[in-house]
Amino acid sequence: MHYYRRFLLLILVMGIAESSAAALSVFACEPEWASLTRALGGDRVAVVSATTAHQDPHRIEARPSLIAKVRRADLLVCSGAELEIGWLPMLQRQAGNRKVMPGQAGYFAAADHIGRLGIPDRIDRSMGDVHASGNPHVHLDPRRLKTIATALGERLASLDSSNAAHYRERLASFILRWDEATMRWQERAQPLRGKRLVVHHQDWEYLFDWLGIVRAGSLEPKPGLPASSGHLAKLKKALLAEPPLAIIHTHYQSPKAARRLSQLTGIPAVELPYTVGGAENVVDLFTLFDETLQRLLALVP
Ligand SMILES: [Zn+2]
Repeated sequence: MHYYRRFLLLILVMGIAESSAAALSVFACEPEWASLTRALGGDRVAVVSATTAHQDPHRIEARPSLIAKVRRADLLVCSGAELEIGWLPMLQRQAGNRKVMPGQAGYFAAADHIGRLGIPDRIDRSMGDVHASGNPHVHLDPRRLKTIATALGERLASLDSSNAAHYRERLASFILRWDEATMRWQERAQPLRGKRLVVHHQDWEYLFDWLGIVRAGSLEPKPGLPASSGHLAKLKKALLAEPPLAIIHTHYQSPKAARRLSQLTGIPAVELPYTVGGAENVVDLFTLFDETLQRLLALVP
């Protein structure tokens, strides 16, 4: 009798698991897109992220486990604009999954849906490892993120049309909360307008564009190149003439160069979360902006 009841219970649990099984298998390139897809898809999406906040999304090893995940995916959600050019095309080729190739409905590149910053007039090797399609670090401007969310919500609805109403409902409720939060952030961030910050890499252009923050210099002498002591010495001279609020870097970058410049100048070095998981309390896109503003506002005298 006892066994029989357990057996019935097992059948019941399996039945529930079956009926709530996700309709779409999603491979996100970065944690911010995994988080957005979960917010918009709820239980109809099963999302894996190729990278964590600890990893540099420019440089990821195309491991067999990632290839297997791309092979199983119905949808890839990535930054695009060549951020993943060093690893994603290889994963796509090796996986042999036609539906997630560029140009297919199963490939969603966030940068394709917004006006990009930093598109170079011309490109030559002397410019370093430049982002030739413009700056791909597009998630740190909530206005652009809203546009991306809308496009992604519609993509989910068109790929899984039997659940279209579900995705549109979740999108509407996300946008409602997002608009309200954006207003709150903008108000709170007023003291940052016109303030200057030194960056490690140009990960922050969209955040600065949104808040009116000025980039006072980069630790990288050219995009993608490590900071040299000659470059730091030059930077020190310029910064002492007009000191910025801080030197900022992400969780995925080594803090060494920022700390070195901080020692040379007395300007504080500050780590910002950059993406979901980049600090203990940053569990979604809302807390990402909450924490980023909190850390920046703490620098304003
Ligand atoms: Zn970059």
